Amino acid sequence: MNRLALTLRPAALETPTSFLSRLAARNGCPDKVSFCYDLGLDLIAISNGERSAIEDLCHFAGLPNDAFAKTAVIKTTKMSCRVGQELFENLTLNRVEIRVCPKCQLEQHQLSSDLWAKVHKMHWQVPQIHSCYLHNEKLLTITAKSHHILRFDSSSAIRSAWNEIRNADSPLTADSFDN
Ligand SMILES: [Zn+2]
Repeated sequence: MNRLALTLRPAALETPTSFLSRLAARNGCPDKVSFCYDLGLDLIAISNGERSAIEDLCHFAGLPNDAFAKTAVIKTTKMSCRVGQELFENLTLNRVEIRVCPKCQLEQHQLSSDLWAKVHKMHWQVPQIHSCYLHNEKLLTITAKSHHILRFDSSSAIRSAWNEIRNADSPLTADSFDN
């Protein structure tokens, strides 16, 4: 297995699945499923936080083996997972829909128009979080019930929904409970 010539650094608190999406885009692949197929990476095992599969990803990307030690979503049982030292029930971490803050995405776009520069932030997947704490912007769902194998391909979802992301303007407004 050789290290890829085109690689990336993970963003702060980036999950391996988000990073894998961006790495696929960086290498000109239309989606991370075909990217994993080409490299012999086990996408489901990476998605389930299996150590050897994540180490394979780190190897290709030229990263230390523990690069995702704090951000891998590790499946612990059928109904729960662990991120770092935190345990989550499946219902407290949405792994079916992909949500983004349009303003965060546009800020990233101003720094670089490359698709692989757009990071999907882990806390956007917590269903109880409805808005971006930086922008007070309602999170935008850009895919729903995506095909099992394509779930969490954040880069291809962002590319497909780019016009929607660019045109979104949904600041949260105060309701009667805020008065
Ligand atoms: Zn934001």
